[in-house]
Amino acid sequence: MCQTLKVGAITAWSPAASEQPDVVVKGLVRRTDDTWTVTLFLVNEQREPEQRRDEAWLFQPELSVEAEDGSPIFQQRPTVRHRWQSDEEQAMAMLYRQHVSFAIGHNVGVHAVVVEENLTRASCLSTRIVPNYDVPRTEAPTSVEIPGLANFVLDMKELAECPTRELGSKLTPLLAAYERWIREQEARIEQPDEQLRPYLHTAKQALTDCRHTLHRIHEGITLLASSSQAAYAFTFMNRAMWQQRIHTLSAEERRRGRTSDAESKDTQENRSWRPFQLAFILLNLPSLTDLHHPDRSAEPSAIADLLWFPTGGGKTEAYLGLTAYTLAIRRLQGTIEGRSGEDGVAVIMRYTLRLLTLQQFQRATALICACETIRQTDVLRWGKTPFRLGLWVGQRTTPNTTEQSEELSEQDRGQYQRGSSVGGVGSPRQLTNCPWCGSTIEAGRDIKVESVTKGRGRTFTYCGDLLGQCAFSRRRSTEGLPVIVVDEEIYRCLPSLLIATVDKFAQMPWNGATQMLFGQVNKWCSRHGYRCPDLDDKDQHRAVGSLPAARSLPHAPLRPPDLIIQDELHLISGPLGTLVALYESAVDSLSTWTVDGHKVRPKVVAATATIRRAAQQVQALFMRQVNVFPPQGLDSADNFFARQRKPSQEMPGRRYIGICASGRRLKAALIRVYVAHLAAAQYLYNQYGGAIDPWMTLVGYFNSMNELGGMRRLIEDDVRSRLGKMDQRGLAKRRSPLLEELTSRKSSTDIPEVLDKLERVFDPNSDTTSPWPLDVLLATNMISVGVDVQRLGLMVVAGQPKTTAEYIQATSRVGRSAPGLVCVVFNWARPRDLSHYEQFEHYHATFYQQVEALSVTPFAPRALDRGLAALLVSYVRLLGAEFNENSQAGNVNGDHPYFADAIRALTARAIAVTGSSEVGEMVNATLQELRKQWLKTTQTNVGTRLGYRTRKDGQTVGLLHPSGQGEWRPFTCLNSLRDVEPSIHLILDERSLGDSEEYSGHVEDVGGVVNVLNVKHVSQEL
Ligand SMILES: [Zn+2]
Ligand SMILES: [Zn+2]
Repeated sequence: MCQTLKVGAITAWSPAASEQPDVVVKGLVRRTDDTWTVTLFLVNEQREPEQRRDEAWLFQPELSVEAEDGSPIFQQRPTVRHRWQSDEEQAMAMLYRQHVSFAIGHNVGVHAVVVEENLTRASCLSTRIVPNYDVPRTEAPTSVEIPGLANFVLDMKELAECPTRELGSKLTPLLAAYERWIREQEARIEQPDEQLRPYLHTAKQALTDCRHTLHRIHEGITLLASSSQAAYAFTFMNRAMWQQRIHTLSAEERRRGRTSDAESKDTQENRSWRPFQLAFILLNLPSLTDLHHPDRSAEPSAIADLLWFPTGGGKTEAYLGLTAYTLAIRRLQGTIEGRSGEDGVAVIMRYTLRLLTLQQFQRATALICACETIRQTDVLRWGKTPFRLGLWVGQRTTPNTTEQSEELSEQDRGQYQRGSSVGGVGSPRQLTNCPWCGSTIEAGRDIKVESVTKGRGRTFTYCGDLLGQCAFSRRRSTEGLPVIVVDEEIYRCLPSLLIATVDKFAQMPWNGATQMLFGQVNKWCSRHGYRCPDLDDKDQHRAVGSLPAARSLPHAPLRPPDLIIQDELHLISGPLGTLVALYESAVDSLSTWTVDGHKVRPKVVAATATIRRAAQQVQALFMRQVNVFPPQGLDSADNFFARQRKPSQEMPGRRYIGICASGRRLKAALIRVYVAHLAAAQYLYNQYGGAIDPWMTLVGYFNSMNELGGMRRLIEDDVRSRLGKMDQRGLAKRRSPLLEELTSRKSSTDIPEVLDKLERVFDPNSDTTSPWPLDVLLATNMISVGVDVQRLGLMVVAGQPKTTAEYIQATSRVGRSAPGLVCVVFNWARPRDLSHYEQFEHYHATFYQQVEALSVTPFAPRALDRGLAALLVSYVRLLGAEFNENSQAGNVNGDHPYFADAIRALTARAIAVTGSSEVGEMVNATLQELRKQWLKTTQTNVGTRLGYRTRKDGQTVGLLHPSGQGEWRPFTCLNSLRDVEPSIHLILDERSLGDSEEYSGHVEDVGGVVNVLNVKHVSQEL
């Protein structure tokens, strides 16, 4: 049908006049300035008969529009043009200028045929009932694409073993190649067909950022030539990362029951950096090495480097590399200002959820094992103190005290005692397998606890290798694996690398020993390690067994942490982020020290795959300027370090498809989508065997626990019975699905087991005794963080997730090793879902642009209510030894410099973060008032003693009140940064109000903490 454009209604016509005359196309033409807007509707005016109603239905109709001569007449929809405001939005608009929205569907998706020469023009638009889009892969460029990279050495072994004077020549090719690329981009700016004219300023700024990054990388390479310490630390890092890589790979294979050893994995491919990883490390070297480097210590202009790379791209390797370098340079620099760099926490790596912590824990442990084996071969250079890793997380995951650890380990040996006090405490067995060789670790056999009274007060984890080939097995090592998971032991040993959850920092006011993590120690016991006033120990110990007599000696403070790594920065937002930002003031101050009369701050590095408004977030969180790496170029497809691969047969992207069954219940649609995918995968598996493995495990993603629970029942029932009959529909029968879930209902010990099950592959040749792989994994947003199972290739998303960031994070879990397929089943009754369906293609083409801005507001009045007292107490208690012990809360002196320091630091931070002196004044006044109240409390307690915490001695009354018990008082402190608001418990009234789903409760899955909200169905009594 051909129509000439004319303002007004289009004459209705019937596309199939002979068969279905009552199916008509109607439309409307409007004109604004130089643009025509055409709206078309397909209307089914047929009457539904009583019987065989589907004869009047239309299945998957399609409308297609083009110019008579096929010319590219379609351009961007006027409503979405030029609406940016901020610099960042303008930069985003520039990056995605080639991806325009030509049309929007109404209850349907739209597909545009774009012309190659000009991506902002389309030649044909058609509707799509099942829209799809292939999101391209992002990868590092090859030396074929960038010949200049050919001589840039990425081999960790080569960089570890070459003479340090040759490092420069192996790394400088990167500079030339990057500079050349920048020059090419600069030349593009003025070219008319690049369509950069509206973005001239933005484009120039983007390339200025690239040049600045180039300069910083240059500075890093220069440092390696001028400083032998830096060069040694750099080779140490390369050696450690090389060993970490090959051991991790072989340990993984052995864990899956295959024979493997590190030597066989030692190939160049397995031990190579990606260019962006090495570049990121190089640009950070100067500020990690020079304590007074302005990027590190200037206040407030220091830089927090933000590594921005798609999920699965290798961010972890980059900051593990930085970690290894920091450990090495600190030991080489020795004692500075009387503070030893050999001991003490050097790097704090922070995560938000326990799941991530455990997985990353295994990878990080392999790195520390590598560092430790290197140290043992050259103790003179690297020091006598072992490199260790500490896991400092919630009590539900790991024990707080050696005593608890002992009790738990006895339970594991079957010596369970009644009246156990350790119910709900996590296990000291955090590793199921040796990260170095892959041998199984059994709690009863391989964990040995030495109590504080009878031994060294340590929980040792040995590799379970019975042959004694592994360096960390009981036969070959006294300490076993270099990991510490018990809080108390972390304080005494102060592991070089501390992995923590952000939550845990809520402990600062409550526990005086946390000051030790920042180097504040005052004594050293030759048997148990470091002490501070709040960490109990005797000054003398008699000889016990093989241990000689021991005593404590006074000890100077240690060097505070040099590097703070914040992973998954996008999760530090909302109420949690706001409190993290507030507590960060204390973390920053406690990690700051003075060298040669100048302040030295810790270096901050963060990583994320999705970010908006990073500058504001980083400023509020860390009081530092953000520097995003890699800096963006002129378009989203290429920033030199990462390139989007145009989806093709050889380089498939991740395919997203949208299903929206209007008029049908979401559950009904989900059942069919599950059955179709499961049966289709089975059909292919029957033909092609193991090659189909990636699509044999279906990951079902849900936005709420409630929806997930409903689906679980349906899988066990409807899906199961339908699968048995799918051969009748041309697919294949499939066995009853083996089902697991990854939600906050799982305990921290179950989660590694679920992840292990996910690793099992479908293989027609595997013997019948091997355990069955999973057919279905149901997951909430817990899967979005750090689940790194390479084989997963299929996901079904039930309803559009709440945020784009979450959507990207969740769906990026599939398609790592094989092409990923993500099917989004929309709920047509939700307008937001519908809108995503109607703009499916465009949304997916630009979803990184659509990521929501995050906000943290640490100095907002309500945040201050929740956290300011905790901060004041943290400063006064943790800055030194004087007021550290619990009972010292009653002996504080209001004129002590700690009070003044705290008030000054917090006020200055409030002003720097908010830019408002009024907020500063308010913070100052509140703190003065809190100090007054604290001092008043010390004076009025007759017959009792003021402690920070209440003790059960009948005398010590706590200054601090735990949140959640009674009303909020001036010195009420949070126990967890997640429990910002107490949860409301509602009573479920079972009396029915009918089956309307609108009343069902909504439970948000937040990982470590579950806020179960039982929604009451309130029926009004009349
Ligand atoms: Zn081992
Ligand atoms: Zn001791």
